[in-house]
Amino acid sequence: MTTATITDLGQAVEDAAAHLYVWALQDIPQDLRDALARAAEKETSVTGQRVLQTILRNVNVAEDQKNLVCQDTGIAVYYCRVGEGFPLHPARIYEALKAGTERATVEHPLRSNTVHTLTRENTGQNVGYRVPIVHWDFIPDWDGLDVKCVPKGSGSENMSFLKMCVPADGVTGIKKFVLESIVDAGGKPCPPGIVGVGIGGSADYAMHLAKEAIARPVGTRNEDPLVAELEEDLYELLNETGIGPMGLGGDVTVLSVHVEHADTHMTLNPVAVNYQCWAARRASAHVAADGSIEYERDA
Ligand code: SF4
Repeated sequence: MTTATITDLGQAVEDAAAHLYVWALQDIPQDLRDALARAAEKETSVTGQRVLQTILRNVNVAEDQKNLVCQDTGIAVYYCRVGEGFPLHPARIYEALKAGTERATVEHPLRSNTVHTLTRENTGQNVGYRVPIVHWDFIPDWDGLDVKCVPKGSGSENMSFLKMCVPADGVTGIKKFVLESIVDAGGKPCPPGIVGVGIGGSADYAMHLAKEAIARPVGTRNEDPLVAELEEDLYELLNETGIGPMGLGGDVTVLSVHVEHADTHMTLNPVAVNYQCWAARRASAHVAADGSIEYERDA
């Protein structure tokens, strides 16, 4: 953990974003490194073993040479937990996150991926209309700000699926849809990764929950025991598919399955799947009301 103090709060948030975006791309969290190492211990296929050893070597080279773990710098996604007493309005926090993303892209420099969705023309330095993407939580009785940066690669983001199951489909329907989604995805999302599943709420909220699920530390379990049991069941099920590392066959198809849930309408049963590739990058910072910043890679 490293700490810095900056008096201008907008500047502090911008600095945090600029640091987090590059840091996340270069230095993956310890829980992910451990999960990849465990996968390598478990994998019995020769090809799968070679893929995992290459991934592990790649992670170390990126760290040693201050380079990126993958060429796809992703779309910048931030999760913000804003305390009600944090003395910078969310509109200004958003401006600062955007400026930090842009600065990181220019200074590193990073590949810029953002385009207008119809013209496909590049919109700048990994920023554009409604980009970066920011998810907000507002916390009562607190004056801090937590920012988590989760750059999301397109190979895995393209493997996102939604089904409005009917209530009669029950848990079996949820499992079936997740299994079908992962089998259809095959090697495209660069497995083995983390499968995020969102259940309940509404169509849009289920997908939001699936995305939130992939941003958790690898292997963490939902605090609801029923949901945690579903996570374990899906983990076992998906690793029986034989898809293996990079889809080339093997024992390890997913590193973990994370499920987030919300209560829903009595006639709804939405299920969303959001895949996160092996390069499950994330990095966090806490910005205090006085502008001091604490960086935390593993949160
Ligand atoms: S899906 Fe992930 S590992 Fe594959 S190219 Fe994209 S960012 Fe890289």
